[in-house]
Amino acid sequence: MASEYSTRSDIDTAVATSRDTFRGGRTKDVRYRKWQLKQLYWLVADNRTAFIEALHKDLGRPEFESRLSIKGLEDDIIYHVKHVEQWAKGETPKSGFLFTKIGTTHIRHEPRGVVFIIGPWNFPDSLTLAPLAAAIAAGCTALIKPSELAANIADLVVRLAPKYLDSDSYRVVTGGASETQYMLSHKYDHVFFTGSTPVARHVAAAAAKHLTPTVLELGGQCPAIITKSANVDLAAKRIAAAKFMNAGQICLSVNHVFVDSAVHGGFVKRLQHWNQQFTSEGENDTMCTIINERNHARLEGLLNRTKGKVVYGGTGHDHNLLKMKTTVVDNVSMSDSLLSEELFGPLLPIIEADYKRAVEIITSMPHPLALYIFSHDQSEIDYVLNNTLSGGVTINDALLHAAVPEVPFGGVGDSGMGAYHGKHGFDTFTHKRVVTGMPDWLDRFMGFRYPPYNLENSSP
Ligand code: NAD
Repeated sequence: MASEYSTRSDIDTAVATSRDTFRGGRTKDVRYRKWQLKQLYWLVADNRTAFIEALHKDLGRPEFESRLSIKGLEDDIIYHVKHVEQWAKGETPKSGFLFTKIGTTHIRHEPRGVVFIIGPWNFPDSLTLAPLAAAIAAGCTALIKPSELAANIADLVVRLAPKYLDSDSYRVVTGGASETQYMLSHKYDHVFFTGSTPVARHVAAAAAKHLTPTVLELGGQCPAIITKSANVDLAAKRIAAAKFMNAGQICLSVNHVFVDSAVHGGFVKRLQHWNQQFTSEGENDTMCTIINERNHARLEGLLNRTKGKVVYGGTGHDHNLLKMKTTVVDNVSMSDSLLSEELFGPLLPIIEADYKRAVEIITSMPHPLALYIFSHDQSEIDYVLNNTLSGGVTINDALLHAAVPEVPFGGVGDSGMGAYHGKHGFDTFTHKRVVTGMPDWLDRFMGFRYPPYNLENSSP
């Protein structure tokens, strides 16, 4: 364990300080928000190398992947700097309602207050600091709790935050499950959690005791469907690349693939080909490690119990190095070990099924965070879209809908509730407060509104 965990007294102080600061009102000033957002940008940009090194220590992540996610985080913060002034102005609705035409109606975007952000280990930098950017833009104060499993990033954020950010407003607290449960015993005005569905149930239950709203950014088993009209080679290439990234430890990673029997053989061959290409320079050097021994053993256990046919990769991974080869398993049935839980690793089960059968199976399972359709027939795409529900969808690729800054990112059902990214994060952390004002002279024309409702009282 690299980081010292926060003590109960540290946590109490952090919550009380955040609460006092929010009450004091300085985080509501838009100039302050912009300043702190810029400071957050520099916290990342000044220390790119340190972030890359910490990500390498925590996840064995190749530099290219780290640069990609750090660039995404920096762009996200800049997006907030550019738009916060406009967002904070609130809105004046164009309503036909009599009162809004005569009086004034405005929607104030009020910061909710003190927010608590709990992060996961798989993108320990961006999935903690991007929600923080949204909270700062919204005018909230925030406590952030990085994952204890990515201890080097947690350490780095603990060290850098007070150097760049106003510590009275934004505090880092550290710990594992029991410390986080203690943190959750306090009252916040919003809880933002990214992590697994089982842990989310504890987080939501703890927040519910205080009637605190939550955003739950969760995971699940994201499927891909390859129809007979798909570009099979490109589908295989893009799925293999998505699975390679972060060694499949991405909430949006393709968990399993449904492939039409007409293109099944060709797809599996191209998947083998592309995996070979992507790993030809030595998988051990370029692919992330599995986060810890427990997860490594979990993945090996699932693989050892599969009844499917391993067509690429396989068992016998180096447990000490926490490495695991991309492993493609064909002819998998829905009752197989590989489909018993979210894989969150570089294993890829293939199920032979046409898109209609795939839809039947998908709708019998919890709503996934993402759904991927590889097809060039619009009627097939429409059928899948019209008969399923998921957090988001990318057509003929994977992961990419989450990279569009203007659109909401979030799950549905077991894959989560609420959303962020761009203005949607700002909306999450603000309350839309309607303020209507009425002129005194209205009574000269609307005397009828007062009991006993005599219409003769309506004219001057
Ligand atoms: P996790 O649920 O184990 O942990 C997430 C956070 O919760 C950590 O900070 C951890 O310290 C804390 N925690 C753990 N147990 C707790 C408990 N009992 N009470 C209170 N807090 C507790 O998740 P993880 O292993 O860090 O991340 C992997 C999961 O997160 C996967 O399911 C993945 O799909 C999901 N995920 C979702 C997104 C998204 O944006 N939707 C992004 C990344 C990961």
